Amino acid sequence: MIIRFQPGTTAADVQAVRERLESEGVRTILSPESARPIFAAVDKVPPTLQAEIESNERVESTVTPKGAWRLAARSFREAPSVADIGGVRLGAGEVSIIAGPCSVDHLMEEAAIQVRRGGAHILRGGAYKPRTSPYSFQGFGKEGLRKLKDAGEKVGLPVVSEIMDAAHVGPFVEHDIDCLQVGARNMQNFTLLKAIAQVGKPVLLKRGLAATVDEWLYSAEYLLAGGCQGVVLCERGIRTFETATRNTLDLTILPLLREITHLPVVVDPAHAAGIASLITPLSRASVAVGADGIAVEVHPDPSQARSDADQALLEGELVQIVAEARVMAAVTGRRLHAQPRIPDKA
Ligand code: PEP
Ligand code: MN
Repeated sequence: MIIRFQPGTTAADVQAVRERLESEGVRTILSPESARPIFAAVDKVPPTLQAEIESNERVESTVTPKGAWRLAARSFREAPSVADIGGVRLGAGEVSIIAGPCSVDHLMEEAAIQVRRGGAHILRGGAYKPRTSPYSFQGFGKEGLRKLKDAGEKVGLPVVSEIMDAAHVGPFVEHDIDCLQVGARNMQNFTLLKAIAQVGKPVLLKRGLAATVDEWLYSAEYLLAGGCQGVVLCERGIRTFETATRNTLDLTILPLLREITHLPVVVDPAHAAGIASLITPLSRASVAVGADGIAVEVHPDPSQARSDADQALLEGELVQIVAEARVMAAVTGRRLHAQPRIPDKA
């Protein structure tokens, strides 16, 4: 249950209600919301106690979210929440583009230059790769993180990379990776979620291959409960009976997520389609349906890409996606995020 107070309610009045619940064994968590006090009762509240709380004149309303997730619930915040990825604010009413190679490789710097010129805002690149086959390229690991960060600094873009193992937190922190990506295959790796929640960096949480929205939001809840400040959901296609495309892009849930969670949402049409020519129209549709951002894969020479070559875009295609995102953002009452400034030393 979420307890929402009248704006201006004193901390002491809020504390008294929390203590009442805690005295009955119900744990509570305060929202970081500044517009009004809001807190979540994590455990089930008995009906008589709920009635007692609702009769408190300082309590404006109580909301019981559909799922048992609390901190991810829309009612836990007054306004949608914002994740700050190295200065790029996702969820603040602007549309941002994440782009870069699937895997960091020897063309990382060239890719970064193209991503910057193409108009994107955040640079991606995988250093630890979750591959279906153990014989496929597994990523350059720590060295890949260094190449990614160097390339990002060179072109003035924050960077995001996938973390697969809690044991790798050290290298991610050491290389100051601006956002940690949890891949689809690890969405329910709860040990990993708990470990990275405490790192102090935003997390791009991809939807699991066959995860329901409820399961996905529970995973977001793990991050929020662990103290993560900037959780971003990423729809990347789900496994269905359809084999014509790699996965099925579930845009149906975008407007639904708006109603049930305050978290920003990015759409990755690349891993959904798996076919480069489909990604531009799907990006357009994603912004039209309300995505806060788009994540795509760009490679200077897809024939040399170490993974996901079939869905790698060229610079010109990224330019087109950014141009269309600008138009679709305007259509939906938003605008395209301004690119970060290029640092003087670059
Ligand atoms: C990726 O972003 O390169 C990736 C492996 O994505 P996903 O976890 O969505 O498959
Ligand atoms: Mn990929």
